[in-house]
Amino acid sequence: MLRVEHPRLQSAIRQVEDSLDAAWDSFCADSGVRPETPEASQLAEVVLQDPSEFDWRVVDAALDRMICPECGAKLGAGVTGCPSCDQANGFRFGARETDRPDVPPGNEHAIRVSSAVARTRHRYSPRARAGYELLLPDLLDGALPTTAQAQHAKHLVNQLTDDELERLITPADLDRKST
Ligand SMILES: [Zn+2]
Repeated sequence: MLRVEHPRLQSAIRQVEDSLDAAWDSFCADSGVRPETPEASQLAEVVLQDPSEFDWRVVDAALDRMICPECGAKLGAGVTGCPSCDQANGFRFGARETDRPDVPPGNEHAIRVSSAVARTRHRYSPRARAGYELLLPDLLDGALPTTAQAQHAKHLVNQLTDDELERLITPADLDRKST
């Protein structure tokens, strides 16, 4: 089975997307705007003009609510090489991130990066996306690998073919596959 089809990754992505929708709904409520209205679209544009003022979940949700004028995908989610999407995808990372209670510092940043990769996986090579996608469910559970663990995982990833990489489901599979 391919990782992209596996419930472990699918439910992690759904969990992130539900949290983006919830963040957007409460942001709209705080702003006195009803979601899914023209006013909400204007609010999304305001958010994207200065992502550093907003939480990353609000920024990612705003991107989801904009259509790329050049390629027609959700803004930032088109193919690599679409100038508008490449630019929007870069903006994404200017947003604020606040760790949830009782997680290691940096967990929220890791979730942000990993979920951005997993949600726009066609923008990344199998090698570039494997580590992020393998980790995302654990990150959502509050884990955070040490730098040494991350480097070890990267080392293992670099030894596998694209096909092998796409069939990894958990971080443990990575160790098994490489021994
Ligand atoms: Zn585009």
